[in-house]
Amino acid sequence: MKRIYEDLAYVPPPHCWWWADVPDAPVVALTDDVRADVAVVGSGYTGLVTALELAQAGLDVIVLDAERPGFGASTRNGGFCCLGGAKASGKQIRRMVGNSGLRDWRQTEIAAVQSVEMLLDRHDIIVDRHSAGETLIAHTPLAWSKMRADTEEIVSNYGFTPSYVPADGLRAEGLGGPFHGAMTLPVGFALNPGKYHAGLLRAALEAGVRVHGYSPVLDIKPAASAWRVHCQAGSVLANRVVIATNGYSSEDVPEWLCARYLPVQSSVMVTRPLTASELADQGWTSAQMAYDTRQLLHYFRLMPDGRFLFGMRGGLRALPHVETALKHQLRRHFEKMFPGFASAEATHVWSGLVCLTARLVPYVGPIPQMPGVFAGFGYHGNGVAMASHSGLILADLVQGRLPKAQWPKLMQQTPRRWPLGSMRRALLSPVYAWSQWRDQ
Ligand SMILES: Cc1cc2nc3c(=O)[nH]c(=O)nc-3n(C[C@H](O)[C@H](O)[C@H](O)COP(=O)(O)OP(=O)(O)OC[C@H]3O[C@@H](n4cnc5c(N)ncnc54)[C@H](O)[C@@H]3O)c2cc1C
Repeated sequence: MKRIYEDLAYVPPPHCWWWADVPDAPVVALTDDVRADVAVVGSGYTGLVTALELAQAGLDVIVLDAERPGFGASTRNGGFCCLGGAKASGKQIRRMVGNSGLRDWRQTEIAAVQSVEMLLDRHDIIVDRHSAGETLIAHTPLAWSKMRADTEEIVSNYGFTPSYVPADGLRAEGLGGPFHGAMTLPVGFALNPGKYHAGLLRAALEAGVRVHGYSPVLDIKPAASAWRVHCQAGSVLANRVVIATNGYSSEDVPEWLCARYLPVQSSVMVTRPLTASELADQGWTSAQMAYDTRQLLHYFRLMPDGRFLFGMRGGLRALPHVETALKHQLRRHFEKMFPGFASAEATHVWSGLVCLTARLVPYVGPIPQMPGVFAGFGYHGNGVAMASHSGLILADLVQGRLPKAQWPKLMQQTPRRWPLGSMRRALLSPVYAWSQWRDQ
């Protein structure tokens, strides 16, 4: 596998809170040459939901992951099951797919949250759910007035009306901090991403999916009218293949993916449980999942067990000294926004890879020139809902039918390549510098 980050980005995170909570699944590496109807590469939400749906439709499915199941972003994220999935603005999306295409996309964002609710319900997955929708916090007075100005666009595309809290009402709502107002969108909820993933894995195994961890796929070659998916010590001969590797993709599995995805690091910390006096000092007692209006945004939430989760963008490189500097930066940002929590140490800090595409929108569909091979990726750091939803779409595409789940035009455009090839990470550096300047 040819990957574009340093090795440190692809080793198990030593201190991920969700990993502490969920035991290692009992899966083994693939060591034989076997057959299946469908081989799925990647065992995050995209891969597992695809596999689960296919197995329930009676197909014989194998999931292969390079590491333990859920090794990637699906067990490292902030647990915001929320709207989103594209980084492109409404204006850019309108240019790509017109007014009705934008509306279809916004409705798909809502449908994606409902897809997760359906999966939780259907498979009895308990996820420590909290938060009624998501709350966006204005970091400047200008951001607050812009937020208000967006109301019409939100109502016409999402079809719901947001609610607002001005700066002087924040503390009474339990949203105390150096903020200038807040807007709540009434869709979405927070969950424990490790428990969500473990629930999907359990359901997939019960449905008969064969899941192999520690089995990196090295290449995918045509074999008669099927595909031979090669791992180190075994292979799968399958009529259909699904690539569900997102930010953990490599340039050569398959080669079509080369430079069509851009992994970006995001970092998260979780504190020890906060005390009642710390919560009162800060004035943050809300169970809402929240994020701020910065370009390089912070995301945060008070979890049901009293721990506080705080996340932001990660480093441009995965090297030990960059990780250490990043940890300090994360801490500084946290203490600046939440001075009342300054004495609460972080018990867990980790990073993971999210995935951007050059058009800044997700792709779910067939891989050109590889009949029977499909891919779903590029959720731009908002994949708890959208990756799950994409799994539902992929399961129908694999069976040769039009997806029942909403599959808007926006997600069907073949992703183009980023410039600079394997050096494309360099594109992030000026973007970060500009965003940091704008965020002040
Ligand atoms: C720190 C962080 C915070 C985030 N917070 C949020 C959030 O709060 N809300 C939200 O909606 N989204 C969030 N996201 C994004 C979200 O987690 C992802 O979009 C989503 O989990 C993607 O799921 P996936 O199944 O497509 O990919 P992943 O979960 O990344 O899974 C890809 C899998 O593919 C495997 N793989 C790769 N190559 C191979 C190969 N050649 N052979 C075999 N296996 C391979 C990897 O080992 C990995 O397990 C966050 C992401 C990160 C990193």
